[in-house]
Amino acid sequence: MLQSTIDKICFKGFEFYIKRDDLLGEINGNKARKLAFYFSQVYSKNQRFISYGGIQSNALATLSIFCLKRNIKLIFVCRKIPNFLKENPCGNYALALKNKVEIIETNNINLKKYALSLCNKEDIFIEQGIANLNAELGYKELANEIKEQSIDLNLEFDIFLPSGTGTSAAFLAKHSKFKIFTCSCIGDESYLKKQILELIQDYDFSNLEILKSNKKYHFGKPYREIYQLYKELKQECNIEFDLLYDMIGLNIVLQRKWEKPLLYIHQGGILGNVSMLQRYAFKGFK
Ligand SMILES: *Cc1c(COP(=O)(O)O)cnc(C)c1O
Repeated sequence: MLQSTIDKICFKGFEFYIKRDDLLGEINGNKARKLAFYFSQVYSKNQRFISYGGIQSNALATLSIFCLKRNIKLIFVCRKIPNFLKENPCGNYALALKNKVEIIETNNINLKKYALSLCNKEDIFIEQGIANLNAELGYKELANEIKEQSIDLNLEFDIFLPSGTGTSAAFLAKHSKFKIFTCSCIGDESYLKKQILELIQDYDFSNLEILKSNKKYHFGKPYREIYQLYKELKQECNIEFDLLYDMIGLNIVLQRKWEKPLLYIHQGGILGNVSMLQRYAFKGFK
């Protein structure tokens, strides 16, 4: 069973709480919560997992650790890997290589369809970003854990977590007694809604509010103010946050007036920063 602490921090005079899912262990962050269902399953000797997506994704890194530990073969379909990265593996990609993932590059435009075509009957197919219905179990547990901790702390929270596919935010909002706020880090608000509805038909958004960023950020692109915020948080709070999702989310969090104490869910992904920091260094940010 997963369990993380809640820490109180102060940044530029704003006091809030952090759910330290980044400290869950080797498998951490929201990908650990999403995999909770798979922890409890029994696998056959020649079990294979087949997934697809970004070669530097946190999902790949997390799946590679899980599969190595459970003696499962992981096959991961991705787009052509840039030569520079192949010659200088780093971050999540380097970990996947170390963990013996069979990586299959393809020019096929439909990665999912291609990955599915590799599946035999006994194989377990995992959606990009581990965005599937089995993820719900981990969020039921997380909602309960937060409820118990809120009683110990004698606090009623508002909760914020940034979204990619929205799987984490949607399931947490479904099970939490506290109001959940999120933002879209890939595409706009309607794109996020669509993603959630694709996963969970008839999803009831009444406990999930999608907040807007006042600037449009392109996923994975370097921005000066994002790097600045990342550095300041690290210095002032001694916590490293993820560059792709957290910086978009925290920007919004810090600009908003919150009525209740805010609980921010740290969703891990720190190993993924290595490759982003290289891009920042390449652009001359120090
Ligand atoms: C995968 C990931 C997200 C996005 O999670 P979704 O459930 O797809 O919305 C956010 N933050 C971090 C650090 C992640 O690794």
